[in-house]
Amino acid sequence: MTQRPYNFSAGPAAMPEEVLQQAAAEMLDWHGSGMGVMEMSHRGKAFMSIAAQTEADLRELLAVPANFRILFMQGGGLAQNAIVPLNLSRGGVVDFVLTGSWSQKSALQARKYATPTVIASNEADGHTTLPSPAHWQPSRDAQYLHICSNETIHGVEFHELPDLKALGCEAPLVIDFSSHVASRPVDWSRVGLAFGGAQKNLGPAGLTLVVVREDLLGHALPICPSAFDYQTVADNSSMYNTPPTYSIYMAGLTLQWLKRQSEGALSGIAAVEQRNIAKAALLYDCIDRSQFYFNPVDKSCRSRMNVPFFLRDESRNAAFLAGAQARGLLQLKGHKSVGGMRASLYNAMPLPGVQALVDYLRDFERQQA
Ligand SMILES: *Cc1c(COP(=O)(O)O)cnc(C)c1O
Repeated sequence: MTQRPYNFSAGPAAMPEEVLQQAAAEMLDWHGSGMGVMEMSHRGKAFMSIAAQTEADLRELLAVPANFRILFMQGGGLAQNAIVPLNLSRGGVVDFVLTGSWSQKSALQARKYATPTVIASNEADGHTTLPSPAHWQPSRDAQYLHICSNETIHGVEFHELPDLKALGCEAPLVIDFSSHVASRPVDWSRVGLAFGGAQKNLGPAGLTLVVVREDLLGHALPICPSAFDYQTVADNSSMYNTPPTYSIYMAGLTLQWLKRQSEGALSGIAAVEQRNIAKAALLYDCIDRSQFYFNPVDKSCRSRMNVPFFLRDESRNAAFLAGAQARGLLQLKGHKSVGGMRASLYNAMPLPGVQALVDYLRDFERQQA
């Protein structure tokens, strides 16, 4: 097969080619069942085994402790912006740390159900830094504290999750890890709930992953729709209503692919993380060495997954994108709210894809001289 173009989309995003091949091979007949996965009852033995395997593989890959439940939901990260306060806020005070567009959206939505308080923000720095947790002062009565652990649009990532207990805060930490889930290990001792859409790093759109500590179940507000009550979803093993069956299957294939990864002596999520570190370093290094491009984010909190960058001469943007497209480097245009360019380097982007981008960046700069 000829080489496919490299797709740098922020999401829905490129999938591992091996996973697409396997899905294609199983499209008409999954494991001799005579059915494709899309055609199966979610309550049948075949699909139940697919869902159980997907959950087990996720638990293993991300070392999710036994006292956390894994839920397969729908509605994406945006729906979770409402579903989290509906389940966890008890209608009270909830804290937010604002670090970019996504945490801002979450805080706005929470207003419908709770009383959000912004306890720290990087707005004054144009969302290019991370407010140091040492200076956070969580509200005394906060029901939880929400962060977006990777800001997909501004390219700001928490490389270490905040330790709320060290701040004297007993409230659970809620993380929106939509755009870096399964790109690195998670320190679950610091987390109460994590949510993320699958379409960036785990599979196709339609599946929303929620990993929630058991003691946080069962506190939903009376107005919470039953299908969005974590307790109900958990009690029914994510089959209270029909789950996004095909997306779960594709996430399952992706998780198996992730588990097969190795890098030197490393395997699994450690190997995946190592590769992501190398990919991001290659691109940031090229941008930082250039007089032609720049990335505005502080080096201590640059995202490994989403790399926004700008041409100093923005009149060259259209030519840059056309040239990239001609070389098979797709979807590099930045988010409309910030402009410029953005390269998303999710797990499915191989190192040669980043090398091809770096080669193009250098060639384009040279042509302009
Ligand atoms: C993409 C994204 C979302 C929104 O996900 P939807 O599936 O479109 O609702 C939320 N949070 C973050 C950090 C994202 O990257």
